[in-house]
Amino acid sequence: MMNAAANIAGKLFGHGSGTTNEDATMQENTSESTIQESEANLARKMNAVVYHGKGDVRYEKVPKPIMVDTIHGKDALIRVTATSIDGIDVAAYNNSQLLGLVNGDILGHEFMGIVEEVGIDVLLPVGSRVVVSLNISCGECDYCKSKLFSACSKTNPRLTPGQVIDAQTCGAFGLGPRFGRYQGGQAEYVRVPFADVNCLPIPDDVMDEKALLLSNVIPTAYHACRNVREGDVVGIWGMGPVGLCAARWCQVLGAKRIIGISGTEDRLDIARNRLGIDAINYNTDNVTERIAELEQRGLDVAIDAANPGAPKSTSHKLQRALGLEASAPEVITECVMSLRKFGNLTLIAGYDGTINGFPILEFERRHINMTIGLSPTQKLWHYCLSKVVDGTFDPRYVISHYMSLAEAPEAYKKLAAHEDGFIKVFLRPEPPSAIEPGEQPDQVDAYRQSSEARLQSEMEVVDTPMEVQREVQVTETVQVQVPPQGASEYY
Ligand SMILES: [Zn+2]
Repeated sequence: MMNAAANIAGKLFGHGSGTTNEDATMQENTSESTIQESEANLARKMNAVVYHGKGDVRYEKVPKPIMVDTIHGKDALIRVTATSIDGIDVAAYNNSQLLGLVNGDILGHEFMGIVEEVGIDVLLPVGSRVVVSLNISCGECDYCKSKLFSACSKTNPRLTPGQVIDAQTCGAFGLGPRFGRYQGGQAEYVRVPFADVNCLPIPDDVMDEKALLLSNVIPTAYHACRNVREGDVVGIWGMGPVGLCAARWCQVLGAKRIIGISGTEDRLDIARNRLGIDAINYNTDNVTERIAELEQRGLDVAIDAANPGAPKSTSHKLQRALGLEASAPEVITECVMSLRKFGNLTLIAGYDGTINGFPILEFERRHINMTIGLSPTQKLWHYCLSKVVDGTFDPRYVISHYMSLAEAPEAYKKLAAHEDGFIKVFLRPEPPSAIEPGEQPDQVDAYRQSSEARLQSEMEVVDTPMEVQREVQVTETVQVQVPPQGASEYY
């Protein structure tokens, strides 16, 4: 009983969903009929991608999230139809310290699906096809009312003693205790708190592979470009999905020149050949010297979308190993040394802990303006969706592989090693593996068949990268003429 209040508070915010102990405690304050319903639900299982430590994720059975109206009145149960593996997932897979994930956490914060069940206060209709936001926001606190959704004060109950309450960031799916320990989206089902705030309905004619990245990557990349103005020269460190999408947003916003930096040729090929931007391989070129050759005046904007704080030099590898720093400053240093005076530096990489060797003198001498932080996804995704719908932004060029959710452990390995051209993996949950209580065999068969047909049709469109490229190139000239309403409008 003593933890009942805390557990119910947790249920109100939706975190820790699906854990047997919490469910058992919560039942103490529910009616008899609800208890019976919950027990029936607890018997259900689903498949999910579960964290088990550094370099170890597994596809396994876990309890399916439950919905109880008295607790989850503003929540929705989503049957996931598509999800993906994000860069921060891979970074946490490589570095167990990064997010503080613990054994049993379900990963994933980029997903979409069908609304299967809603709480009594939810307006979103059952059956809606929605994308779910990475960050979980209440829509009710002062920050949410100001559309600063990533700073929501209500959805992350984790507080540090002695810390001001307003220092707390929002909750987020699948990002461990620092973000409220919500179950992630690499699963067959997810319970989404404050569903009317955190779900974006998607038009029927926008296919999943175009819509999924509205959950995170597309708005995050747009957020990274908030200081880009027409005619700017922009350097982007990291040609992963966010970096590649940021490059496209820079084109839409009218940047004069875009320079992509990566150590992986597969990714640089996309930058060069599909987006038509300059590319630098940091393994073969000195980045700051090469940028100085290309743009002697320096960059107007530098965007750090690289592997967060990963050390390059022996010195910083040693410092990390000794616990003297959690993140390395090398990319930040390259950014600062490449910027002009009063240039803008945007960090979107997800840094951890502290860094040593921050180039404070050059930072000060050049009057650098630096911004950092999570994307207020729900503020930006309507605009981003409009650009997906009108064809300006087709994100399929960053999706390198289509796989089933069961293959996620293999995908993690490939992404971590940057092998076989792995950049962004689009994952489909398998059809239900067993008939669940209340379901009829013919319903399961129908779902399984439709799922297989869908997967097959998606596999067929994977091999159309050059069409995507041509769309980008054709629309580029037109888009440069469009007023850069994005960043100036939103910030
Ligand atoms: Zn809020």
